[in-house]
Amino acid sequence: MLPVLAPSHAVARLRAARLARSSKPFLARGGIKGARCDGCRLVPSHCMCHLRPSLQTVSGMCLLMADIEALKPSNTGWLVADVLAETYAFGWARTETDPALLALLADPQWQPYVVFPAEYVAPERVVQAVQEASGSSAKRPLFILLDGTWPEARKMFRKSPYLDLFPVLSLSPSQLSRYQLRRSRRDDHFCTSEVAALCLELAGEVLVAETLDAYLDVYTHHYLRAKQQLPVQREGPASVRWCGLGLAA
Ligand SMILES: [Zn+2]
Repeated sequence: MLPVLAPSHAVARLRAARLARSSKPFLARGGIKGARCDGCRLVPSHCMCHLRPSLQTVSGMCLLMADIEALKPSNTGWLVADVLAETYAFGWARTETDPALLALLADPQWQPYVVFPAEYVAPERVVQAVQEASGSSAKRPLFILLDGTWPEARKMFRKSPYLDLFPVLSLSPSQLSRYQLRRSRRDDHFCTSEVAALCLELAGEVLVAETLDAYLDVYTHHYLRAKQQLPVQREGPASVRWCGLGLAA
């Protein structure tokens, strides 16, 4: 049985299913040593389960995860599922497709967008904006994120014919650089939760986007401090920003 605080979200379920299929334990390279909390994957002394927000949103996130992605402690799709109640996650395989994924993509309440860089896609498929989901007939945006290494993401994009029907949402260089400036980032590799935040921003869900970014900062802080075997700084910048959002203790 799982402890009371463990989330039952899509990424946690995918991780549990993937672990159950492993014949040998997954050993993360360079990760934190010792027992982990089932709720947040951190060591118990650095647990951040009490912060998990779970917000209701108009947009949905659909994570297609490469084979061992859900097992990696550095995977931030987990954080997306923590913050957005409406997160779906599926393991990706070239030879088989989960019928539940196809059912989700066919659900008329959603307008799926595949999030992928424009330079790899026929221009007529590329969009840089999201239709506002207002009015009774409007569809809710469902962002499909290909979660894995870049070669894995490219393979998923090329070898998933069921994605060919949907527009490709490509984050514009100006949006990316504004984001880099705001977050004082030096490189242009964005992790899954950052891409999700950028999509939410495009969909007009700015507060949720901000929450996700702040939650990533808190997670990064807890993760690094655990790795360095130092206590969490309750008054550190990540924590201060998080508390400023007024969501939780
Ligand atoms: Zn925890």
